[in-house]
Amino acid sequence: MRNSKYNKKNHYEKADPESLRHKRSVKRRRAQRRKKYRRRRIIALAVLLLIIFGIIKLISSIFNKPKDISLDGSLPAWYAGLIYQEKYHDYYRSPKKYVNESEKLLSVYDRASELVKELVPGSNHITTASSYAYDAGLIRKYIRGEATYEDPQKLVFLTFDDGPNTSITPQVLDVLKENDAYATFFVVGKNLSEKTKPVLKRTLMNGNSIATHSFTHEYTDLYPGRVADPAKIIEEYKLTQNRLENLLGEDFKSNVWRYPGGHMSWENTGESDDLLKENGVEWIDWNCLTGDAEPSGRGPKSEAEFVKYLDKTLNKNIHTNVAVVLMHDEQTKTHTVNTLQGVIDYFKERDYKFCVLK
Ligand SMILES: [Zn+2]
Repeated sequence: MRNSKYNKKNHYEKADPESLRHKRSVKRRRAQRRKKYRRRRIIALAVLLLIIFGIIKLISSIFNKPKDISLDGSLPAWYAGLIYQEKYHDYYRSPKKYVNESEKLLSVYDRASELVKELVPGSNHITTASSYAYDAGLIRKYIRGEATYEDPQKLVFLTFDDGPNTSITPQVLDVLKENDAYATFFVVGKNLSEKTKPVLKRTLMNGNSIATHSFTHEYTDLYPGRVADPAKIIEEYKLTQNRLENLLGEDFKSNVWRYPGGHMSWENTGESDDLLKENGVEWIDWNCLTGDAEPSGRGPKSEAEFVKYLDKTLNKNIHTNVAVVLMHDEQTKTHTVNTLQGVIDYFKERDYKFCVLK
């Protein structure tokens, strides 16, 4: 600054043209230098930006690199356990490439929802039903007063005997699904075929459980002279179980049996009970019913009458906090379908949890 003042002063004192030219050329060179520096600064800034951009790209590529599925903390713990088991079989064998984290997470959720719909190996229900599937032997003890159920959560086991078929069973399944309710289906072996296979599969996949109810349902074969034939009973259980395995896969196993006509109706059932038990099978009757198998003319007719019948039979029990309801999904049972909503509402209004037998 001091220099320029000095120069300015000189400029007025001696207006020498030579000196003026020199000053101008110095000014021009300085201006050119400034311009050059400005250009260099711009180039340097651009290079710096490029480097920063490159670093960001590199970091993001490291984090978004397709990698093996890791468990996410937000998944329910019991899902996570299943995914972990599956991980080594599935994802390691055929590693998938994921574009980003959300796509990866969606894929985990998809797989988890498939898993909950898979049969629990060696059981009669899918994974999602595990939270409401109860051991038939234990529930039998409760309804027979051999054990006391202490939990405040009331339990209802809707049961349907004598299916499956392609007319009534699908309608029963529809009503249950609409209500997020579940049931145990006591199937008769002779009704199990390629024709009823889709219905059977749907029964299972909807979160219901499948139990056995003999192969022939013939009282005279199973209980000649009203006396239970243990060998015949176990044979019919095995035949039915085999057919279920053929249709639902070798991992399917039902350990639940209901005597046609009911355990209470026949003599000498002790021996067959033991034989079933030796085969890992538990039997169960019921402690209330809608009366849908009463001979026509004697049984209830309207929905209100069915519910009244149910209420009356349930309240004959000392403890009503565990209800095993007898109903039928045989081909002729249109009234069972038509009154099922009322039955479900009865238990919903009283805060029962819908459960299945395993
Ligand atoms: Zn039956």
